[in-house]
Amino acid sequence: MKKIVNYAYRRVPIIRQKFKAAGITPDSIRKIEDVAKIPFTTKEDFAQGYPFGLMAVNPERVVRIHASSGTTGKPKVVYYTRKDLETWTRLMARLYDCAGVTSKDIVQNMYGYGLFTGGLGFHYGAERIGAMVVPAATGNTKRQIMLMKDFGTTVIACTPSYALYLCEAVKAEGLDPRKDLRIRIGLFGAEPWSEEARKKIQDTFGMLAIDCYGMSELYGPGVACECPEQNGLHVWGDEFYIETIDPDTGEVLEEGKEGEFVVTMLNREAMPILRYRTRDLARVVWEECECGRQHPRIMRIKGRSDDMLIIGGVNVFPSQVEHVLMQIQELAEFYQILVTHDKLDRLHVQVELKPDIAAKKDYDLAKLKARVENDLLSVLSIHASVELMQPGTLPRVEGKAKHVVDLRKKE
Ligand code: ADP
Ligand code: ZN
Repeated sequence: MKKIVNYAYRRVPIIRQKFKAAGITPDSIRKIEDVAKIPFTTKEDFAQGYPFGLMAVNPERVVRIHASSGTTGKPKVVYYTRKDLETWTRLMARLYDCAGVTSKDIVQNMYGYGLFTGGLGFHYGAERIGAMVVPAATGNTKRQIMLMKDFGTTVIACTPSYALYLCEAVKAEGLDPRKDLRIRIGLFGAEPWSEEARKKIQDTFGMLAIDCYGMSELYGPGVACECPEQNGLHVWGDEFYIETIDPDTGEVLEEGKEGEFVVTMLNREAMPILRYRTRDLARVVWEECECGRQHPRIMRIKGRSDDMLIIGGVNVFPSQVEHVLMQIQELAEFYQILVTHDKLDRLHVQVELKPDIAAKKDYDLAKLKARVENDLLSVLSIHASVELMQPGTLPRVEGKAKHVVDLRKKE
């Protein structure tokens, strides 16, 4: 910690200014409790530093950049030295090992290759453990399924939304996902997904669906992942010093309390990151896991603090809506949340029917609609109008799903 604090202070003007403003120097950080004095790094610092303001090395030493898709605001550019890429690859290899993937596996990587960190991150990690990588990238679902079948893919890596889409797409190709394919493990991340989605994917393919968490600012994927116990995501505590804070006051919370996840990267060369406010809400558990790993675990990330919708003063997380919808047998897993404002904030949920329900002529859709609205009301405590959609009418995604359309912002 002392080493990285010194390094960041000496090399990054933005960080030095923050220390000055807080009236401290690296010498003020002597004991572990002093970490709480270190100023936070925020998403705004990335915007302010765009494109090269957070660089801590001579640009000649940078061998690659990535940039986030900018789901929330400006793209964030991140840089890597050769050593940074090596560390990241090692962490990704660890992720594969933690999930139970071995050199005998055939890994079909369906994350986007390019500025997004998912593609190359999962690619290099799989190569490092000696698996056979099929760098399929996103898109062309028919070809993806052909590759899975012809190469006998045993591990797939993609966003959970795409995995859900594959559940129906594989069947549409006339294949039985359990009999005709050999997929045994899925590595899913880059967005929140529910336990119900996990169950659906696992049951359809007969695979273990593993949750993987990361973000561009912290190398990319590979910050944390589940082991086969599926009881929280192991964070690589030797590379990432983690804290949870109260998002309003910035105060460090005691162990086990849910709060904003804050991360210090202990070895980053091109771009040292001190106390990064991820905006993700997490709860950290320090007990040793059944699998024997002693790395701390974060419970599944339900969403970001800035994903939260405030509808007429009530806090609503999109994941709560998904949770309700996925428990209703008659509904498919494709939905969209629309927020509008007409005197009051209004929440409108569009959700597709399962094909067999939609095909039934005399089915009582009004009754189903009322039931969904009722279930949503009991969980969200506010009314949401529900629209039952025909199968295949809502957009399908290859990357991260965009479940929320907030039309209030455009006014
Ligand atoms: P962007 O910020 O443009 O979305 P990233 O790809 O870096 O770009 O996104 C990282 C964010 O994605 C995380 O901060 C988190 O909110 C979300 N995320 C990543 N993995 C998971 C996961 N397994 N569960 C929930 N959310 C996740
Ligand atoms: Zn474990």
